[in-house]
Amino acid sequence: MNAKNSIAELARWIDALPNTRRLAGHELHNYRKQFVDGWRIDLNLAENVSINLLITAQFPFVSPKIALIDRTKFLSWPHVEKDGCLCVFPPNTNVDPYRPVEVAKSLVAETEALLQCLLDGNLDDDFNREFDSYWLLSSDDLRHQFFSILPDGCDSQKVAVWSSSKFRIIGADEKSVLCWLKNRLQKDYDRTDTGFLVKLSKPLSPEEYPDCTEALLALISEDAPNFLESISDHIAKSFQPLTIILAISATNGTNYGVVELCRLLRANEKVSKCGRSNRVSVNGFRDGKAPLSVQLSQQTKYTKVVRSPLERADAEWALGGRGHDPRFAVLQKQRVAIVGLGSFGSFLTDNLIQAGLGQVAMFDGDLMRWENTGRHLLGGDTVGQNKTDALKRRFETNYPTIVSCESNPVDWQQRIETAESLDGFDLVISTTGSWKAECMLNDLHECSGKRTPIVYAWLEPFAAAGHAVAIMERSGCLQCGFTGAGQFSRRVFDWPAAPTTMVSQAGCGNEFQPYGITDSLHSIAMAVDLSVECLLGQLTASTHRVWINKDRKIDPIQRGWSVAWQTVPNFDTREEVVSEFPWSARPDCQRCS
Ligand SMILES: [Zn+2]
Repeated sequence: MNAKNSIAELARWIDALPNTRRLAGHELHNYRKQFVDGWRIDLNLAENVSINLLITAQFPFVSPKIALIDRTKFLSWPHVEKDGCLCVFPPNTNVDPYRPVEVAKSLVAETEALLQCLLDGNLDDDFNREFDSYWLLSSDDLRHQFFSILPDGCDSQKVAVWSSSKFRIIGADEKSVLCWLKNRLQKDYDRTDTGFLVKLSKPLSPEEYPDCTEALLALISEDAPNFLESISDHIAKSFQPLTIILAISATNGTNYGVVELCRLLRANEKVSKCGRSNRVSVNGFRDGKAPLSVQLSQQTKYTKVVRSPLERADAEWALGGRGHDPRFAVLQKQRVAIVGLGSFGSFLTDNLIQAGLGQVAMFDGDLMRWENTGRHLLGGDTVGQNKTDALKRRFETNYPTIVSCESNPVDWQQRIETAESLDGFDLVISTTGSWKAECMLNDLHECSGKRTPIVYAWLEPFAAAGHAVAIMERSGCLQCGFTGAGQFSRRVFDWPAAPTTMVSQAGCGNEFQPYGITDSLHSIAMAVDLSVECLLGQLTASTHRVWINKDRKIDPIQRGWSVAWQTVPNFDTREEVVSEFPWSARPDCQRCS
């Protein structure tokens, strides 16, 4: 099978149908898409309808397209594009390239069914269900991007709008918009303009999309009459564009479109910097002194309605699975302390924020160095900066709806001094890989009564295995699993030929270890998972999870299953799986017994 044979096969089938003909070159050029061949076909419908069946150079790997000859149906029938092409199959439908005639047959049959529904007017609700697509197709202005951080499902209300030459950002109030800007652009701004959100009670078909001020005011007077005076006042007096969001409920959620009212200049009219016109009279009244109705009737003529699409940028949409992840609402309210923002902690924090965590406080006194760039979230542009400062900027810029992101470029002990200060967090995560630091944290945890859970996560030498331990309120402490000097009782590997310091390491803080990002990502994912389960309240008892890396055979030293690991009940030697073990109190623990 090749494309030529497929086209020949298709042509044979079409030629056998009544009243068909191959399209001429100039007919194919009528389309902006690059169609390479096509046929005119009469369809078997109650009304006489002819269509063009068209193929692109990618045929038979993509389906042929069907186009109506009559191009007046755009935006009066759903599923019709500007050039008359029909959306018959859902987007991204896979077709069988080895049966081109079967594909064409089912396409024509589907087209007949679709057109019959369209002729009968049965699909008008599809305009509402796919409002975003049709509003986009009918938009006048695609140069400006409109972002909304309004929570979904708002009722009609005043909104705050901030504009730049590149984008507009719209929020429920000035504070939320300025906060978003501070995060996104890392700059302070001090004012926003007022706009309006109008929740419409009825769906709009494209023919009803407002295209002039009168049509827009008619919609507003029906569904938000209390805004009419302010909006009319603005039209009459201001040269500033006025942003109005139309919100329309549909079966699959709320749809949004933006209209901007822009005042056009009259003949010989100039506007001063402070927004005053040089045209001083309206129907004999000095500007601004005429009754509102007189001003309005004058100015609507000079006001243009510009329609644009609205892109949702609110936290729930951006980070909560487009509003469909029930975990988001819980995580958004929580506050987590991350101690240690090295390669492990940086990715872990990024993942938690993406999962919906609202508030993070980061603690790490280290500076970013070039040798960190191979496995750290940060790159060369931050070398020489405090890791927590650079991460704060990165997280705020990338996730500007974040509730709070705190950088503490110091050791955690300088900020979390008392046991009570642990209570300010829903979870503490330590990825320092330093026994000294984690032994101290465990000590403080015991003093606090372990009301706030702590997740400790670290890698064994050469990232040969990763561990994540969640210590909950009623159970042993971290020390229960370690010797006084920090030897882990469940380490998976021993390194018989390694220097003793390496063997005795409980953590991953050794920069000279030659593991790379691919060796640590699975362990990071395991720690993220355990942390999220903690935050969602799904973990009731202290838990230890282990992930064993593949034996890479390139470790400088041969690894061997440790005796300690082989004495763990139900110990696992399978590579690349997560094993879970309970974490219980050790009766002779130096700290908690
Ligand atoms: Zn203990």
